[in-house]
Amino acid sequence: MTNPTVVLGFPRIGEKRELKIALENYWKGLISLSELQHIASGLRLRHWELQRDSGIKTVSINDFSLYDNMLDLMVILGAEPERFSDIFDPIRRYFTMARGDSIHTAMEMTKWFNTNYHYLVPELHAQFTFKAINPTKIIQEYHEAKAHGFEGVIHLIGPMTFLALSKCTETIRQALFDKVLAQYSTLLETLNTLGASIIIHEPSLVCDPNPSDLSLLKITYDRLGSLTKIWVATYFEHSQEATAVLVTTPIVGLALDFVHGDANLQSLESIAKSNKCLAIGIIDGRNVWKNNLSQSLETLYEIATFIPKERLSITTSCSLLHIPYSLKYETTLSEEVKLLLSFAEEKLIELNVLSHAFFKDKPLNIETIDTNRIDTAVRQRIDAITPMDYKRPYPFALRQQSAHDLFDLPILPTTTIGSFPQTEDIRKIRQKFKKGMLSEETYNDFMKKAIQECIEFQLSIDIDVLVHGEFERNDMVEYFGEQLKGFAFTANGWVQSYGSRCVKPPLLYADVSRPKAMTLKWSAYAQSLSNRPVKGMLTGPVTILNWSFVRDDQPRSDTAKQIALAIRDEVNDLQQEGIKMIQVDEAAFKEGYPLRQNKRADYEQWALESFLLSTAVAERDTQIHTHMCYSEFTDIIKTIEAMDADVISIETSRSGNRLLKIFAEVGYTQEVGPGVYDIHSPRIPDIEEMERQIYALLEVLPAHQLWINPDCGLKTRGWSETKEALSNMVIATKKIRQKI
Ligand code: GLN
Ligand code: ZN
Repeated sequence: MTNPTVVLGFPRIGEKRELKIALENYWKGLISLSELQHIASGLRLRHWELQRDSGIKTVSINDFSLYDNMLDLMVILGAEPERFSDIFDPIRRYFTMARGDSIHTAMEMTKWFNTNYHYLVPELHAQFTFKAINPTKIIQEYHEAKAHGFEGVIHLIGPMTFLALSKCTETIRQALFDKVLAQYSTLLETLNTLGASIIIHEPSLVCDPNPSDLSLLKITYDRLGSLTKIWVATYFEHSQEATAVLVTTPIVGLALDFVHGDANLQSLESIAKSNKCLAIGIIDGRNVWKNNLSQSLETLYEIATFIPKERLSITTSCSLLHIPYSLKYETTLSEEVKLLLSFAEEKLIELNVLSHAFFKDKPLNIETIDTNRIDTAVRQRIDAITPMDYKRPYPFALRQQSAHDLFDLPILPTTTIGSFPQTEDIRKIRQKFKKGMLSEETYNDFMKKAIQECIEFQLSIDIDVLVHGEFERNDMVEYFGEQLKGFAFTANGWVQSYGSRCVKPPLLYADVSRPKAMTLKWSAYAQSLSNRPVKGMLTGPVTILNWSFVRDDQPRSDTAKQIALAIRDEVNDLQQEGIKMIQVDEAAFKEGYPLRQNKRADYEQWALESFLLSTAVAERDTQIHTHMCYSEFTDIIKTIEAMDADVISIETSRSGNRLLKIFAEVGYTQEVGPGVYDIHSPRIPDIEEMERQIYALLEVLPAHQLWINPDCGLKTRGWSETKEALSNMVIATKKIRQKI
């Protein structure tokens, strides 16, 4: 690989989500395995052609997957969990590991670093025995490319990352190290016969490796580097510590991320001395904006002052998996927005242009972008923010007193997280309305009826604090994005989230403001139906930010504050209208945490400030609730406390009361609603089980501090389970109230 440009992976779901459709049809039994495989190889071919057409001579092999690369890796390494070994048919076993069946629970899925892609988590344990390696997939794809006339570079997730992401303790990880290395060695010896370069992906090396990680790294790549031509790729951050080790091993080169890890520049000297090659990750694989080509070229020239051009190549910062395919189907996006964008196909072209400019001194032909992203009114408002805007006017104790007087709730008040089941009917009505096939009046009537039924149901089982059910929302971020200025929505901007599931994140491209109230109409209607409090339901600024493609021409913190001001206005409108309980969801607050420890304090600070800015407008007798979906709070509990919400609901049902203890340990004084049952499963806990769960909570926090609720929104559940589970929850709560 001298000088060629490569990508660190291309999206695989298909520009029209062909793979998604084929997979789902295959699972339903509508198409055969060979039809599925035919579609898959068609997609691979198209993606290789796209790479070649934009000047890439070595195309990516093994970046394709029918479900997930980590799952593929388990098959390749002979590391499939034993609990699936009763399934003999390999393809059935593969999809059962991913999706489960009536006998086998699916493997756990979790987020791939700080992206929104989910991989399947390898299950290792002390006695784990690896089966023989199985490189068939890689070899077949390599030959398939060859048969079409393509030279390929093979992508493979590396041993350090495989172990780091496996579900096991640190001790087991260390104990299994030799075995894992042996599997990789055999694998690379086999792949060596193909004669292709191999790019080994080791993103876990950017996560503050410790000395013991680094010594294992040295052992690993001294060994693997001696077996065949390998490159090591790290991304999403800098990997200075690992780079320092890798340059002393016999690998050919490194691929480093210079978009999200500019500190990699500090490793240039040691790379230069080592005679290693460097693939410069300069095209952002994580975001959708056009590359600033002249700035990139400057970076390339800077790098070339350290390392001779013969040893350099240009690549993407990471796989392009994390961005949509192509702008060519974006017929509804305004030209102004389109001018800013570059999806995977367009990024291939950028790569080519940069490569020509850098290696062949071709002039850069830069088009000027004159999209106005600035709104002076927004800027003025941001400038006028004072420290008081971040602070609720009264301390919690006084607010709590007001809430007591105003709401007069029983001890252990019951509530839900916001959404109620989204039936097929509801979805259809929303879609029809969106397509203009339904009058606003009919749509409103339908929504009102859904809200009314939802309120009636909640009253019938005697829930204390009600919600309107969120029937008008397709997605908790999209709903707000669509009503805010500064956001745009693609027609086809799908990104794989896991397996066949894709999401279409909003594009946050310009200054954000709120032209008019977004939720007031539905909340006010719901509140008009009952004397009990109905919570206003908003998505918080940090979550809106973390689930969008965010402009990169200003710090994320600035963008977050703009969203915060818009949400602040909504909070204020709601309270003026008499909605005195307002929930501001921060489901994705934790997702934005930087991979590097030393960047976390800064994120926490501005994320916290954004939340406060959106909620501190609440008056003394407006009760602010928040909700967070995940369950690891240990490292962020102080920040949660500082968010100063009157009530927080959290997801604890699956971990018993271990998590809640963290709240007790830090002396958390505000109120907490630790989910008493898991809404992610169709299982309905009976009354006794709910009672036990509530008692367990009472062992940790006093009754006056606790709320009783499910652990997340109910939109993915059916009505019948929901009715039964909530009714059990209320009965259990009442029984306990009588006893305490
Ligand atoms: N209020 C939202 C709902 O109930 C919260 C969803 C979430 O936390 N992911 O659906
Ligand atoms: Zn949740």
